[in-house]
Amino acid sequence: MNKEIMEKILQKIEEYHRIFIFRHIRNDGDCVGASKGLKAIIQLTWPEKEVYLIDKDTSAYLAFLGPEDQPVDEALYADALGIVVDTASESRISNKNYKLCKELVKIDHHIPLENYGDYIWVEEKRSSCCEMIVAFYAAFQDRLKMDSQAATYLYTGMVTDSGRFRYEGVSGETMRCAGILLDVGVDTENLFARLYLEAFEYLKFKAEIYRRMQVTENGVAYIIVDKAMQEEFGLTLEMASACVGTLDSIRGCISWMVFIENGYEDDSYRVRLRSRFVHINPIAEKYNGGGHACASGATVYGMDQVHALLKDTDALVKEYKETHEDWL
Ligand code: AMP
Repeated sequence: MNKEIMEKILQKIEEYHRIFIFRHIRNDGDCVGASKGLKAIIQLTWPEKEVYLIDKDTSAYLAFLGPEDQPVDEALYADALGIVVDTASESRISNKNYKLCKELVKIDHHIPLENYGDYIWVEEKRSSCCEMIVAFYAAFQDRLKMDSQAATYLYTGMVTDSGRFRYEGVSGETMRCAGILLDVGVDTENLFARLYLEAFEYLKFKAEIYRRMQVTENGVAYIIVDKAMQEEFGLTLEMASACVGTLDSIRGCISWMVFIENGYEDDSYRVRLRSRFVHINPIAEKYNGGGHACASGATVYGMDQVHALLKDTDALVKEYKETHEDWL
């Protein structure tokens, strides 16, 4: 079944001379890795094709992977194929010019909230969209080319979206795909250093998180990173958001989340929800968001909604704990 759609996508890539690749807003390792990795595979295989990755959104911690392409004349989109990676819903596509493309492909591993595109390949069980791109490469290895730069892009997404090969979605297939990339060549020591070393000052912020973190009655750990805290530690919104992982190892807290005050007039907070065992995506969907079963994002407005979301998650965790045994 998937092979059929993969073949269709390959056929479309072969058919078009010009291809635009798109990804989601607030980019992360997976969407950056998948978009750059796919672009590199296409360019290596068909050097004569025009392949563009145009996105105003950038991410400081992924800057080492290199810049995106400069914007081009919008008229160029009209006879081009668009490929959107790692993006569940249209509203989250970063470069809105995807609408101008002649045909659109969607390649994604999120729970589909809505579908878009002419050719849709969604596999929710994949640990990352990069894993899908590697599986695509593996399926047509006799026709596609990859080099160590492309492998590094894709490995970046595989590592970051799977929590260094730790999360639920990691399967034997994940490891086989990772193996393909390592065989092509990835400098993992350098890559892990780039991704995971932290600044001395940032660790002080983390210490403050451990000092201020709270837990609800039934075990939802959380922290509100308000503007004052962001200013105290000189944090950008991206840096402030990155702290969600600090709460991930508290015994009994099977869900954890951070609320990042955006500082906008609408009093909004970005919420990053995480869990083990229990699935929290329905909570994210209730509060203007979505994502994966155990890693979702949402937006709430004002402290009342912060507390409402916490209350809902606490009730979900309570119910889960009462009806299951093997959590910890
Ligand atoms: P985040 O905590 O923002 O990294 O989000 C975790 C996962 O949920 C990522 O895979 C996001 O792409 C996804 N996600 C975050 N926010 C939303 C949203 N508003 N709608 C749908 N998916 C989201």
